[in-house]
Amino acid sequence: MDNSEGIVFNIQRYSIDDGPGVRTTVFVKGCPLTCLWCSNPESQNPMPEVSYRYTSCKRCGTCVDACPVHAISLTHDGVHIDRKLCTSCGSCIESCLYEALAMSGKKMTVDEVFKVACKDKDYFEVSGGGLTVSGGEILAQPDFVAELFRRCRDEGIHTCADTSGCGEKAAMEKILTYSDLIYFDIKHMDSDKHQLYCGGPNDRILDNLKLVVNSGVPIVIRVPLIPGYNNSDENIAHISQTIVEFNKDIPVNILPYHRYGANKYRMLDMVYPLDNVVSLTEDELKRARQIIESYGLNCEISV
Ligand code: SF4
Ligand code: SF4
Repeated sequence: MDNSEGIVFNIQRYSIDDGPGVRTTVFVKGCPLTCLWCSNPESQNPMPEVSYRYTSCKRCGTCVDACPVHAISLTHDGVHIDRKLCTSCGSCIESCLYEALAMSGKKMTVDEVFKVACKDKDYFEVSGGGLTVSGGEILAQPDFVAELFRRCRDEGIHTCADTSGCGEKAAMEKILTYSDLIYFDIKHMDSDKHQLYCGGPNDRILDNLKLVVNSGVPIVIRVPLIPGYNNSDENIAHISQTIVEFNKDIPVNILPYHRYGANKYRMLDMVYPLDNVVSLTEDELKRARQIIESYGLNCEISV
């Protein structure tokens, strides 16, 4: 039994959007990027952190007294957590009777996560599904992810790695060894804009993309399309051209911008950076797909 540990912030069973068939999706915590449109802001910090649900809080002050390092104060606006002082001990969460506080992320062993995956093995077999690990960024926890995938493989469970591609080459190689499918995001071909919008350049990402394509492991390219940030015809064409140069049979998925994660920012004392951005219209999405298809690529728009 291997007990390598990872930091996990969510495990979602019966998922149908994270690979073929019915899947269990494990979300690991920690990401080197900070994409402005990130729908999982709780995934960015690699360590467990307290989230606060303003609407559930009764302003009772119990958590203030429970905190051993005096990181919590009660303000006219609800509870304020000094995140520099907070040690993520969890005492405040235990003290709150109204479930206004929760810990986002916890250490889990490979064995613990593997047991969760095995619960749905029958569904995987019937539907052609399996286990997906997403993030956060999986390349930040390569030993944990690779060992989890190795265990799944031995058990006949299909493995899918969902990655931004931002990480060490060695990490990608390690995970590739036990991956049946890679979901690989490409956001911007202009490295300066990638730096501006995502918090890092795209050079390592493109290097890892090449590595994955050359490995022969099946890959799906996913393009989150964010109005005003990366949906220019020029960027979509550049992405398409890059993919075609690798292999025109690589499928492409457009992931339309949504605001599902916007409410989570406040729970972590973060500011949602794209407050004024509205969703793309059907015509705009269709136009993006047409550009991609004009390069001979097979493109789908995810819902
Ligand atoms: S204990 Fe819970 S309900 Fe009371 S102030 Fe703290 S967060 Fe709010
Ligand atoms: S997790 Fe611990 S240290 Fe952090 S605010 Fe709560 S009680 Fe204080």
